[in-house]
Formats: sequence, structure tokens, C-alpha cells
Amino acid sequence: MKPRECRARVAARRALTSEIREVDLAMEDPPAFEFAAGQWISVPLGPKTVRAYTIASTPLEPRRLTLCADLAPNGPGSAWFGRLTPGDSVSFKGPLGGFVYARADARRPLFVAEEIGIVPIRSIVTWLYATGFGRPATLVYWARDRGWLVYDAEFRSVARRYPSFAYHPVVAESAAMVVDRLTPSVDTLVAYVAGGGETINHVRDVLTAKGLDRKAVKWEKFW
Ligand SMILES: Cc1cc2nc3c(=O)[nH]c(=O)nc-3n(C[C@H](O)[C@H](O)[C@H](O)COP(=O)(O)OP(=O)(O)OC[C@H]3O[C@@H](n4cnc5c(N)ncnc54)[C@H](O)[C@@H]3O)c2cc1C
Repeated sequence: MKPRECRARVAARRALTSEIREVDLAMEDPPAFEFAAGQWISVPLGPKTVRAYTIASTPLEPRRLTLCADLAPNGPGSAWFGRLTPGDSVSFKGPLGGFVYARADARRPLFVAEEIGIVPIRSIVTWLYATGFGRPATLVYWARDRGWLVYDAEFRSVARRYPSFAYHPVVAESAAMVVDRLTPSVDTLVAYVAGGGETINHVRDVLTAKGLDRKAVKWEKFW
């Protein structure tokens, strides 16, 4: 899908925690927004200021997009997101980004998310299992404490319904340590890692040390 200028209206907002907010956007132009799970939109906030927000919902709902943001960074993007109120008009460009899952890829996916980096992975995992993906997949979801694992209940529910989905919420160890422990072999593995640059590097180092090709580690760096 080619990126284009779009317009939507805020339909709802929800506080998932005191610092994490979801916003639903009802599409106006175009009325349905085609994208691939894992992609993001670019929001202009000023002449030289743009911020990226990933679509947390799935391509199955092209008329209504959900965004999810951590407001803790407290810069212009957080301030804008925190002010969004039902009825507000939002202009953006999208869809953008290549952190998407190729369904024809026969390798087994390992998803690794650090805190708000869960957003693209929530879209991908939800979309895959809602559309008949029966194959094994693993998710390692790290946060500083349980309260920051905002989509935990959803992933537990996916894991209950689909035994091939192995869900590992993590608070006590680092994501890289858990990936190391859970991955005795990197044979036919493809990894999707999203969050901060440091975690992405640690996870990639763990996997490449076991023999995984660097190109088999796909990443989305939020900060
Ligand atoms: C491809 C892409 C997709 C993104 N998708 C999302 C998303 O879905 N939800 C979301 O909340 N953010 C997302 N981000 C981050 C978002 O674009 C902004 O960077 C973020 O909201 C902070 O913007 P700000 O203007 O408030 O703070 P800034 O003034 O830009 O940043 C302040 C400082 O905080 C750091 N920082 C930014 N985000 C975090 C964080 N979460 N944790 C710790 N430090 C951080 C920055 O590196 C900087 O040092 C995405 C970024 C990229 C590149």
C-alpha cells in the first residue's frame, strides 16, 4: 500500500494505565485504511516535528484504527496524544514501515516486545490468529512490572485458545535472558523485536551468537 495523506476523527480514548493511552480513530478520508499488521502512521505536529504511532488494531478493521501510546516520554508527541479527545480531527500519513509478517514465510516466528514496543506485535499476533494461522509462534513480552504488560490478558486468552502460541510475560529477567533460555536452537527461526535500541541489540546478539543470520532478526526501534 502506498502511503498517502489521511484524515480521521477521534472516536474514543481509554486509559490502560496512568501513562498508557489507547485512542480509536474513525477513518474519514479514505473511509477505509488499508495497511499490513505492524505498520505505523506519521503524525505532523509542527513544521519540523513528526512522530510515529503504530496501529495496534488489525487490518480486519480498516474503518477504525486503534493507536496506543506511552505518555511517559513527555515530549511533543506524548503531549499531543494525551490531549486527544473524541471529536478531534487527526491528519496523518501512512501506512509506513516494513515490520510486517510475511505469511508465506515458513520459519517459526519469535516475537519479542519491550513495553510499548508491544503495539506492532499485538497487531501482528492478533491478526495472525484471527485469520487461521495454526503454526507455532512464541511471544516474549517484557515490562518493568506487571502493570506495564498492558495486553497481557489478551495474549493469555490467545494462548488458551491456540496451544501453538507460547506466551512468556517477563518482569523479573531481561528479555534477552529469556530469549536465550527459550531458544536452544535457531533452526528455521525468524525474530521480530520491538522496543528500545538496547534491548533490540541484546536480543540480536543472543540469537546471532547461536548462529542465526542477522537478517533473520527484524526490528522496530521506538526509542
Ligand atoms: C516506527 C515507530 C513507531 C512508533 N510507534 C509508537 C507507538 O505505537 N506508541 C508509542 O507510544 N510510541 C511509538 N513510537 C515512539 C513515538 O514516535 C515517540 O517517539 C514517542 O511518543 C515519544 O515522543 P515525544 O515527542 O513525547 O518525546 P521525545 O521528546 O521525542 O522523546 C523524549 C525521549 O524519550 C525517549 N523515548 C521515546 N519513547 C520512549 C519510550 N516509550 N520509552 C522510553 N523512552 C522513550 C526518546 O528517545 C527521547 O530520548 C514509535 C516510534 C517509531 C520510530
